[in-house]
This record gives sequence, C-alpha cells and structure tokens, in this order.
Amino acid sequence: MAKIELRNISKKFKDDTVIPNLNLTIKDGSFTVLVGPSGCGKSTTLRMVAGLEQQSDGDIWIDDKCVNDTPPGLRDVAMVFQNYALYPTMTVRGNIEFGLKNRGVAKTDRNTLVTDISEIVGLAPYLDKKPQQLSGGQRQRVALARAMVKQPKVFILDEPLSNLDAKLRGQMRTELIQLHKRLGTTFVYVTHDQVEAMSMGDQIVVMNKGVIQQADSPMKLYHDPENLFTAEFIGTPA
Ligand code: ADP
Ligand code: MG
Repeated sequence: MAKIELRNISKKFKDDTVIPNLNLTIKDGSFTVLVGPSGCGKSTTLRMVAGLEQQSDGDIWIDDKCVNDTPPGLRDVAMVFQNYALYPTMTVRGNIEFGLKNRGVAKTDRNTLVTDISEIVGLAPYLDKKPQQLSGGQRQRVALARAMVKQPKVFILDEPLSNLDAKLRGQMRTELIQLHKRLGTTFVYVTHDQVEAMSMGDQIVVMNKGVIQQADSPMKLYHDPENLFTAEFIGTPA
C-alpha cells in the first residue's frame, strides 16, 4: 500500500526548474532512501512532502488524501534535519517534551511519553542534562526523540548523521534501522552517500538533477541498474 505518492511534481525557484516532473510511490512501512549528488533536489522533494515548500505543479498524496492544501502541522509527517536546533536553556526532557505542550497533551501523559521514548533512544540517563553537556550523537538522539514524541506516521530524516564522526555514524545507522523495525512506521531517509543508502533502505530512489533515475530494492539496483548513472553511482558496471 502507498503511504505517500508524488504525482507529476515540478518545482521552480523563479525561472530555475530544479524538478521537472517527478513521480514516486513510497510504500507504507518502508525504509525509503533518497540518494543522489549534492544539489540534485532531495531536500526540496522532501520539504514538499512535509509541506515546508509548495510544489509548482502536481499533487502530493498521503494516505489516499491529496494534501496540496494541508498545512505542515496537519500532515502527520515529522522531519529531522542535519542542523537540528535544540533549546540550549532547556533540559533534554524539556526539549523532547516541547512539541507536545502546544498540542494540549496532559502533563502526566507527556511525562510517560517522554520517559518511554528516551528509553528507546538511550537518553534515559540524560533527561535532566542541558544540550551542551551532551555529545554530538546524544544531541542527534534528542532531535530524533523530539520528532518521535509526536508519534508521526512518517519520519523524514534529511542527512541526519552528516555532522557525526564515522564511528558514531555507523552506530546510529544500526540504531535507526532497529528503530524503524520497532516502530513499523514509514521512514524516508536522505543521503548523498551510496554506501549508507544501500545498507539502510529497502527501497532506494536514485536521483540526479531533479530526475529519478531508478527506484528499486538495493539488490535490484546493484544487479540490474537501468542506466549508466545508476550503475556508476552505485558502483557496478552496467
Ligand atoms: P539536495 O538536497 O539534493 O542537495 P536541494 O533540494 O537542496 O538539493 O536543492 C536542489 C536545487 O534547488 C539546487 O540547485 C539548489 O540550489 C536549489 N534550491 C534549493 N532551495 C532553493 C531556494 N530556496 N531558492 C532557490 N534555489 C533553491
Ligand atoms: Mg539536501
């Protein structure tokens, strides 16, 4: 079943067409990875799904509903960025809880949810600390927990690990794969790193210059690339 569908999506910034005509189906519960060189339109595509950017033409469907006119807060999509901004004066608990307060969730329910989620992402011992007392990886987990607490049906992660060192990045990859299994929700993950893409996703979408080159399983991409760009980008001869 499709969770998200992009139908004939185009995007122009002034006279510059960065996405000419994009069609994509993201399956419910999948771990979909958008991969391609820097500037190819990955972030723009996902910002349109989240409602943070309006497409120039075409329709976006989430759960069999056209969301073209649905504001970001009502799309049930949470986005985690590379440059996550935490509130420096608030504790870890305060940062995670923040998104729930203006949703009218009762204090006791907020506490339970924050405690449960901090267990899942390994932050339980750090709830009373301030962001500057945490490592880079721990801060990234706070950003993740802040998105999780809203219990969205779709997680969009835009290069969330690129500020971390290689060792921590490897560890966080494994954690995210486990988190996806545990939550069973749809993950859409953006990276420019093909090794990361192939090791994480069950559906890989290879993009170049605003055009999807191929969308397939890692096995299919590896063994049966449909064009030279995909073959070279994934690293196998066509
Ligand atoms: P990626 O995430 O794959 O690195 P982006 O989606 O950020 O690529 O950008 C795709 C193209 O759109 C790039 O050429 C970029 O310069 C351009 N672009 C992105 N956002 C804007 C904007 N707000 N105004 C003008 N051009 C933009
Ligand atoms: Mg980007």
